[in-house]
Amino acid sequence: MMDLINELWYLRRDLVSDGYDQALNRLAQEVPMTIHEYPSGEQCWTWRIPEKWSVQEAYLETLAGKRLIDVAHHPLHVVSYSLPFEGIVTREELFDHLYVHPTLADAIPFVFKYYQRDWGLCATQRLKESLTDERYRVVIRTRFEPGTLKVGEVIVPGKSSQTVMLAAHLCHPAMVNDDLTGVVVGVDVMRQLLQTTNLYYTYRLLILPETIGSVAYLSHHEDLIPDMVGGLFLEMLGNDSAHALQFSLQPDSAFDRCMATAFRGLDSQGYTGAYRSIVPNDERQFNAPGVRVPMLSISRVERPSYPPHPYREYHSSLDTPAIVSQERLEASRDVVLGLLNAWEHNGYVVNHFKGEIFLSGYGIWIDYRENPEGSRRLFEIMERCDGEHRVADIATELGISFQAVWEVIAKFLEKDLVSLSVVPKPTAPRRS
Ligand SMILES: [Zn+2]
Repeated sequence: MMDLINELWYLRRDLVSDGYDQALNRLAQEVPMTIHEYPSGEQCWTWRIPEKWSVQEAYLETLAGKRLIDVAHHPLHVVSYSLPFEGIVTREELFDHLYVHPTLADAIPFVFKYYQRDWGLCATQRLKESLTDERYRVVIRTRFEPGTLKVGEVIVPGKSSQTVMLAAHLCHPAMVNDDLTGVVVGVDVMRQLLQTTNLYYTYRLLILPETIGSVAYLSHHEDLIPDMVGGLFLEMLGNDSAHALQFSLQPDSAFDRCMATAFRGLDSQGYTGAYRSIVPNDERQFNAPGVRVPMLSISRVERPSYPPHPYREYHSSLDTPAIVSQERLEASRDVVLGLLNAWEHNGYVVNHFKGEIFLSGYGIWIDYRENPEGSRRLFEIMERCDGEHRVADIATELGISFQAVWEVIAKFLEKDLVSLSVVPKPTAPRRS
């Protein structure tokens, strides 16, 4: 994952751009990928596909010709999708178009103007403070032309057409934690799933430009939407912080419940938050009206109450490979795989027994004097095996992790005391 990051991070990956295409083509060598193309100008629901954008040169210089800012030195020195502009401007006029990072004096900020067209340059606060001349020369040579927006799709088919969606965006030029980490973790997750046999659900990973990529894909695949049972948006998975799970707009969905209980068993330092309360991304398009897929997001952002939220180097030139690590990426990949693995096993637990199980007869009795909590749990879980509770429902009712319930259910499965069903199969007699 770090090798891919080192190879791709510095590319000029704007929404529709050569750098984005180059990165996506490279990723397509890692896993079997279909690349969907949507032409500039095409209407997708209420949106329109943007033009391809490229920058030939962009710089600021003194009237004497001293170069102060140059996009050749860093891709973030020009606003993404900046209009072309060339002329002599007053310092005041320049400052209306010169962006700096609000807190980091030595960082160049990431600024984009996809839909409110304007020209703009970005610099460090230090550079801006040194600008004392009355007039400067600005040159921004950018080009807008018809192109195609591209969405990469990796599919791991399961027995069922019911699908879990994964998504990550690739449109942040010369930055790493946001957004390349989500992409490489997603690719690695798919690589693992491709080697897993007997998957019940189908998995689709989308690699796309933020927001417009999700709208483009969904509007062209409306037939797939009814089969989308849940999803996870992936990003900011390399910084040194605990995992954050943000629920969908339907926090009581079976998918949300399962993710919540499984997450408890995967990162003891992790925290959770309501929809839109941690960090909003492409999951918004999946949760939106007419789509309504319960898509959660997993990241490592700092808690919203903590000042460097989402993380110190966010949307700046300091978001480099230096702030992420292979170890954390692997840990995040394992959290995502753990969440998906729980969903695969989240069947309705159908009891083959009536009454309490004769536990000692099956060799699964736990001595309540030695392990009172384990003994109580065993009974509490057994009581809920009735063909009407999924594994995650039992975990939710008991306030424990999915994995803790699964440990007991696995023993019951081994002794053929229960089976799992994808549909409810109530075993209690009906009463009128
Ligand atoms: Zn971002």
